Amino acid sequence: MLEIGNFNKIIVANWKLQGSLSFIKTYIKNIKFDSVEEQTKCVVICPPFPFINQINSKDLLIGSQDCSVYVEGAFTGETSTKMLKDIGCNFCIVGHSERRSLFGESNEMIAIKIVNCLEEQIIPILCIGENLEQKKQNKTKEILINQVQKSIPKQANENNMIIAYEPIWAIGTGFTPTLDEISEIHTFIKNNILQSKEFKILYGGSVKSSNCNEILTQENVDGVLVGSASIDIEEFNKIIES
Ligand code: PEP
Repeated sequence: MLEIGNFNKIIVANWKLQGSLSFIKTYIKNIKFDSVEEQTKCVVICPPFPFINQINSKDLLIGSQDCSVYVEGAFTGETSTKMLKDIGCNFCIVGHSERRSLFGESNEMIAIKIVNCLEEQIIPILCIGENLEQKKQNKTKEILINQVQKSIPKQANENNMIIAYEPIWAIGTGFTPTLDEISEIHTFIKNNILQSKEFKILYGGSVKSSNCNEILTQENVDGVLVGSASIDIEEFNKIIES
């Protein structure tokens, strides 16, 4: 398993249901990232399943956007962590809010997926976050505590798992929490819920080149999870460079 602790900045691209072979060719040709010079920066690309092993750049790390709760057997349409490992995946986004809301994923299913990842030495990137209504009702911390307590299995720790705080109301909307709010929530997750400052916590939700510098300099923000801006290679290059 990769040593997460060696990275001081982690940038994850979540392409969602977008991409093609020709898009990947152009993307890889144009992405500006030299891992030899930037050993402490980690850039992870998470394309849709069919394209995962098409990204054969030695400088980039590959992740998937999801995995199955099952390991093997009669589960049509599923992709196991064993298969993901086989094709070179080092990371796996787990519990993204779109999976939770559109595909009915529960915290319990997410916990199983994390166990499956850990068994294959894949680093799960666990997404947690509140929706707008919960935020308005001042329930953000309560929601995060519940998600963390129910979805993180015993075997997960700061060396083998990453958390991404993604307020649902900020995903794809152009809205973000204030910088103070981001810092407060990340500090709360590290100190109060996880009780370990060492856990890496990424921020996700409408990150773009114009706001990523200030987000990345907030206390307890260890990187960003980028959706729509990761599809635009010029935007994503600026985010990598920030
Ligand atoms: C996401 O889907 O995880 C995400 C952060 O999306 P966006 O950057 O488009 O808000």
